[in-house]
Amino acid sequence: EKARIGVTGLAVMGRNLARNLARHGHPVAVHNRTAARTRALVDEFGDEGTFLPAETAERFAASLERPRRLVIMVKAGGPTDAVIDEFAPLLEPGDMIVDGGNANFVDTRRRESALRERGIHFVGAGISGGEEGALHGPSIMPGGSAESYAALGPLLEDIAAKVDGTPCCTHVGPDGAGHFVKMVHNGIEYADMQLIAESYDLLRHAAGLAPAEIAEVFRTWNTGRLGSYLIEITAEVLAHTDASTGRPFVDVVLDQAEQKGTGRWTVQTALDLGVPVGGIAEAVFARAVSGHAALREAARGLPGPPRAAIADPGFADAVEKALYASKIVAYAQGFHEIQAGSAEYGWNIDLGAMATIWRGGCIIRARFLDRIRAAYEADPRTPTLLTDDHFAEAAGDAQDAWREVVATAARLGIPAPGFSTALAYYDSLRADRLPAALTQGQRDFFGAHTYRRVDRDGSFHTLWGADRTEVTA
Ligand code: NDP
Repeated sequence: EKARIGVTGLAVMGRNLARNLARHGHPVAVHNRTAARTRALVDEFGDEGTFLPAETAERFAASLERPRRLVIMVKAGGPTDAVIDEFAPLLEPGDMIVDGGNANFVDTRRRESALRERGIHFVGAGISGGEEGALHGPSIMPGGSAESYAALGPLLEDIAAKVDGTPCCTHVGPDGAGHFVKMVHNGIEYADMQLIAESYDLLRHAAGLAPAEIAEVFRTWNTGRLGSYLIEITAEVLAHTDASTGRPFVDVVLDQAEQKGTGRWTVQTALDLGVPVGGIAEAVFARAVSGHAALREAARGLPGPPRAAIADPGFADAVEKALYASKIVAYAQGFHEIQAGSAEYGWNIDLGAMATIWRGGCIIRARFLDRIRAAYEADPRTPTLLTDDHFAEAAGDAQDAWREVVATAARLGIPAPGFSTALAYYDSLRADRLPAALTQGQRDFFGAHTYRRVDRDGSFHTLWGADRTEVTA
């Protein structure tokens, strides 16, 4: 018997993905650099389906039906290249290598093009949902050729999460499109988490609520338009009590957030594409600030305002509105980045389909994504989600509360970089005139960088050092 698909790299993600495939009735070949992991998988879970364990790369490749479908789930970066180098010589034209790791889309483009020359399809597939998702149904974002998707899609859709019967998996676009979208997914995840953290901080230090009370607030929000996996787990974390001290769990955790890099890549890529993603950038920076322990220690005594708790019973509702509006901005920025990446690399990504496959399985799964899907269905070419009827109305309805929350944070000295940058972005987009006109004037003054005029075509320069007449540049 041959396997329909194979997985190499059997740490948490690969092991659970292989089990998911086997549980869906697909015979799966399994391989790992260290064979003990392969044996452990078969020993522990062999009765869940048909596993074909292989101790060598040759045996593994030989156990796959043709065209071969080989999934790599190893540490991203050098290890992925090492595994590709090991397996590619064992494959034949028409075979497919799927990289399910968190690869940088630039690496994926390079690998895809190198393997294409040898007739091998390379599919960079973003997989979200952590180990539970891998086992029970992740959100899968495969890139690569349409031809490879025809052979792989049915299998991947079979093991992906389903929402209303629709699989959370679709062909994203050529070469690195899948990993690009996964990267932005993670960037949005950073922004979403930061906004939730700021909401918690404001409820705690402006409204004076205890963690358990805030957990209740999040539970209520989870039943409404903010309903999402991240809001749900936030309530769980806040309600948790530390067993050894009896204190709220959130109070015994060191307040220094870590990161693995996909949020940073999202921002670096946005800078290259010239796309403003302030919500995501502030989220990455907020984690960075938290981690600079010595810097924070040195600055701890700086003066701030007195922190009197505010006695406004409507404050939690105002925070809900600020959170919803800021979340719209974060997603609008992330989708703008996907749109720009798609245009830059010729991927032709269907933005509504991305919202659709994020509705289940992944970390940012949320009720809200149905709204994004509807927005792109209504107008696939909309320049920003913010002008969609629903989102424009929601942001407009939230704006008084949003401004109040940002002002309260500033007045009480509670950092709210996510809320602040989201509101600034909203106000920048809707502004009649931006002070960028002055910036252009300064640039022309010190560097003769020229400017354009509102009333005439062309580029102009003012002779600042002479008589200040204007010349055509
Ligand atoms: P790790 O990222 O911890 O990687 C461990 C696996 O990589 C092991 O199977 C290991 O083999 C193998 N490996 C490492 N170096 C090499 C090498 N040079 N040659 C061959 N094999 C090597 O595993 P995870 O399961 O956590 O993640 C797998 C991939 O999925 C990563 O790219 C990760 O970014 C991505 N991912 C992870 C998520 C998560 O929640 N953990 C979520 C989504 C994606 P050995 O046993 O021999 O050491």
